[in-house]
Amino acid sequence: MEDKLTRMKSLAERVSACSACQLHLSRKKSVPGEGNIETRIMLIGEGPGMNENETGRPFVGQAGNFLNELLGAAKLKRSDVFITNVVKCRPPANRDPLPEELMACNQYLEEQIQLIDPLIIVTLGRYSMGRFFPLQRISSIHGQATWINDRYIVPMFHPAAALHQPNLRDIVLRDFAKIPQYLQEALAAAEKAVSEEADTDADASQSPTSSQDNGVQLSLF
Ligand code: SF4
Repeated sequence: MEDKLTRMKSLAERVSACSACQLHLSRKKSVPGEGNIETRIMLIGEGPGMNENETGRPFVGQAGNFLNELLGAAKLKRSDVFITNVVKCRPPANRDPLPEELMACNQYLEEQIQLIDPLIIVTLGRYSMGRFFPLQRISSIHGQATWINDRYIVPMFHPAAALHQPNLRDIVLRDFAKIPQYLQEALAAAEKAVSEEADTDADASQSPTSSQDNGVQLSLF
């Protein structure tokens, strides 16, 4: 079986050749995502902007600098996390991604989530939040962690929004500062789940009932 790095590189190659939605027509460089593939924390933004389209890297320029500051508030560096977007090619003139574009690109995001298997997903902005909480408003749930499918999903405002609305700056800094606490909680929950599973396996192997059940099962065939 291919290792994780090989599979992530193969995904990036498929993204760079992808024509599954109209965004491939206007892209210069696709932006599959980058960072630590062994991380516990994955950040999902919206889509590449002008600088990202030129460089093929997520969150460069002003919003990228602010993201670095936000990660600092969580005592993290970029090399500690994996960063990607819900669409991997730039929407023209930075317009919002369309539903059919989000749907077409979701296959890559889903594959990245499966490969990295993070304990925390931080969504940045409305469109990545909408993937997990389609009926919610970001103003109501930003900074709150919700346990979904064995991981925390934490919606945050997009760093670019905080650059345009200075009143969001302190809010998003405070939200990011909660990440270390959420990581502790998620690690504890994951350890508890592993230990409960081990206990269940041990109980099952020692239970006379289970061997009787096996006998019944076997006798049925
Ligand atoms: S945005 Fe996603 S689905 Fe659309 S062309 Fe780019 S990689 Fe393919």
